[in-house]
Amino acid sequence: MSHAIQPKPGVLEIRPYVGGESKIPGARDVVKLSSNENPFGPSEAAKEAIRKSVHQLHRYPSTDHTALRNAIGEVHGLDPARVICGNGSDEIITFLCQAYGGPGTEVIHTEHGFSMYRISALAAGSAPIEVQEHERKVDVDAILEAVNFRTRLVFVTNPGNPTGTMIGNNEVARLAADLPEHVLLVLDGAYAEYVDDFDGGAKLVDKRENVFMTRTFSKLYGLGGLRIGWGYGPAHVIDALNRVRGPFNLSELQMAAAEAALRDGDYVEKCRAENARMRTWLAKALAELGVPSDTSCANFILARFHDPDEADACEAHLRSEGLLVRRVAGYKLPNCLRITVGDEASCRRVVHAIAGFRDQQG
Ligand SMILES: *Cc1c(COP(=O)(O)O)cnc(C)c1O
Repeated sequence: MSHAIQPKPGVLEIRPYVGGESKIPGARDVVKLSSNENPFGPSEAAKEAIRKSVHQLHRYPSTDHTALRNAIGEVHGLDPARVICGNGSDEIITFLCQAYGGPGTEVIHTEHGFSMYRISALAAGSAPIEVQEHERKVDVDAILEAVNFRTRLVFVTNPGNPTGTMIGNNEVARLAADLPEHVLLVLDGAYAEYVDDFDGGAKLVDKRENVFMTRTFSKLYGLGGLRIGWGYGPAHVIDALNRVRGPFNLSELQMAAAEAALRDGDYVEKCRAENARMRTWLAKALAELGVPSDTSCANFILARFHDPDEADACEAHLRSEGLLVRRVAGYKLPNCLRITVGDEASCRRVVHAIAGFRDQQG
């Protein structure tokens, strides 16, 4: 049925985002390894901060997020005046597309890139342009070839999701330097904290006028349910984004929890170390079962199977054992499964189940 009332072009091209599954009907002891969540949850300090802030729920929150921006500035060594906070980094991506996209413009994302780039680009009226990766790695030259006078934004996830691979600082700097002046490079650092001695691109942001970085509290900080992300960029970009941002886009609960989580360095370090330890263990155990993966720089492993049928059969087997992992055919990786690095017991269950799957195959 066609309606006289129509959304603007692009909106009906959006395929709604599908989140990782969390339940298996009738099953107990289900482990969710489908959304790259921190298996240990948030810091106790973050939960305590929420308990305290419930007494102020009748008050409108701060519109400028000063306390949280200052904390981010302190902990990460950044200029707090050039930080913007959002309802998840998803909202920062939305602001970028709203402020810089629109009819007649193009937004570049890579082959296996995060689906929110495409969704936000279409919602803003831009044309999303997909650029090939090279063996599951971002290809800087392919991006540069795809850029034209209509391009406004280039989204690069580093480390990538669902690939887990990274491109080096030199490659990122080369991309920033070789982009035409009217294009903003956005570095999505959702997994930056999992990489040793990596700033997510912050120093490059400081050096240039055309680089922006997004970060999140949803992964390492274990606060995916609370929706807090932030961006760091040149002053002119922060100014534009603040104009499209709603004044009360974050609640005091969100800001208080995020600040407490950020300042609980010991807990953050513990989670990071445990992820690294189990990630190495899981990748090696799966490789020994004939399931290879690229070296992951994040909190998940992209397990590769011979073909899509085998990946699907393994996913079904894991599900029958109460283990939910992510199928990534929608990310053009039909022969892979993305498995979040859980706690030690969950990782052992995954390996045990995949060994059982191999036995079944004969
Ligand atoms: C998880 C993730 C995010 C974070 O999204 P939030 O809205 O902050 O929860 C952003 N980008 C990528 C690539 C992710 O995987």
